Amino acid sequence: MGKKILIVGGGYGGLNTAIRLQKRHANADITLISKHDYHYQTTLLHKVAVGTLSDRKAKIYYRDILNLEKIKFIKDKVMEIHPKENYVLGKLGKYSYDILVIALGFKPDDFGIPGVKEHAFKLSSFNAAIRLNHHIERKLKDYHIKKDDADLSFIVCGAGLTSIEFAAELANERKKLCKYYGLDENLVKITVVGRNKNILPVFDHKLIQKATKKLENMGITLLTGASVKECKADGVLIQHNDKEELIRGHTILWGSGVKGNDTVEYYSNDIQSHKGRIKVTPQLRSVDYDNIYVVGDCAIYAQREVVFVPTAQLATQMGDYIGNLLSDELEGKTKHKDFKFINRGSVCSIGHLDAVGVVFGRKISGEFGAFMKNLIENRWLFTIGGLGMIYRKGQFRYRRSD
Ligand SMILES: Cc1cc2nc3c(=O)[nH]c(=O)nc-3n(C[C@H](O)[C@H](O)[C@H](O)COP(=O)(O)OP(=O)(O)OC[C@H]3O[C@@H](n4cnc5c(N)ncnc54)[C@H](O)[C@@H]3O)c2cc1C
Repeated sequence: MGKKILIVGGGYGGLNTAIRLQKRHANADITLISKHDYHYQTTLLHKVAVGTLSDRKAKIYYRDILNLEKIKFIKDKVMEIHPKENYVLGKLGKYSYDILVIALGFKPDDFGIPGVKEHAFKLSSFNAAIRLNHHIERKLKDYHIKKDDADLSFIVCGAGLTSIEFAAELANERKKLCKYYGLDENLVKITVVGRNKNILPVFDHKLIQKATKKLENMGITLLTGASVKECKADGVLIQHNDKEELIRGHTILWGSGVKGNDTVEYYSNDIQSHKGRIKVTPQLRSVDYDNIYVVGDCAIYAQREVVFVPTAQLATQMGDYIGNLLSDELEGKTKHKDFKFINRGSVCSIGHLDAVGVVFGRKISGEFGAFMKNLIENRWLFTIGGLGMIYRKGQFRYRRSD
């Protein structure tokens, strides 16, 4: 057998590296380790949390999509990385490698704000989204018994893509959920707390205005220019217009920022990292170790000094690049072009049938925006499993996913 290539983390970055190596028939001993048996689209976790994407549909089993004769899959949680000795320690075993690809993804960053860890939900993994989904349903049921308004108050901390997509999905689903649980939908309150002057700072003024109007029309309260002081069991303490105020609510989502993976941040002492993210060269190698590559949210990647915001789009392109680079090396080619990120834009869904965003420099919104969002999600499904995967797991205008 050839070189041992170990990929840790089966998200957009890691899985795409594996798929690319598989497609290129790389002659190596390739193993993908991830902590679940299934891949999930992190970009759809807000739907899992609200219940509009069922857990069964969201799971894409690695053993179903990988050619197991070419890529071994091991379900394990990576606990430590030992780059000097070329091995990774998992809960279930020790895995040695010649080449390591780190693709462990992100963790929420609470910026040291009290109570976030204890009282706020995060959309950091599939299981975290499921926990939030069960909690939302429990609170709707609790209201019947206790008649406490806080059970119907949902507070979203952060006004970026993740937070807005969740708030809008929940607002969109409110009517149906209230019908199920026999509640008056007007009693449900959704509040978004954002630190910046505007929501969705990645977009320009026109799109921000459009999104703001859409969200307000859905009955979402947008508190911008407000900072979160503390998350508590019964709500969020904020500073807004020079005043402290407690917004009562029993469901808090923390969507305010991300950092790299804990395993890199705390348990991989010999690799230099900043908040779990590793600085990489233009060829996505760790700056310290020639045989370690980093893709996705764990990488700090800059083009002309500009550090890119971690996104699924970036992670996917990085996975593609590393898969090709490693395949080329195995075929004896030693010269490689540097990685170049091609930003095709980004789209923020506003419920299932609406969205705002920019695609190839063109502003889009409304149903066409939603169509493009589905197209982006389905394109990824095509990459990992062809048309059949789109048919089984895809997002469509006329088909709900629960
Ligand atoms: C709700 C939401 C909406 C988003 N929307 C968009 C969007 O519209 N567009 C966009 O471009 N980006 C979006 N993002 C950001 C995007 O999801 C991330 O940038 C992307 O997932 C990063 O890919 P990755 O491969 O680095 O990590 P991930 O996709 O998070 O994958 C990491 C993988 O590693 C596994 N793993 C983690 N820790 C371990 C461990 N210790 N051991 C073994 N396995 C482990 C995980 O189970 C997972 O499979 C969104 C994020 C969220 C949460």
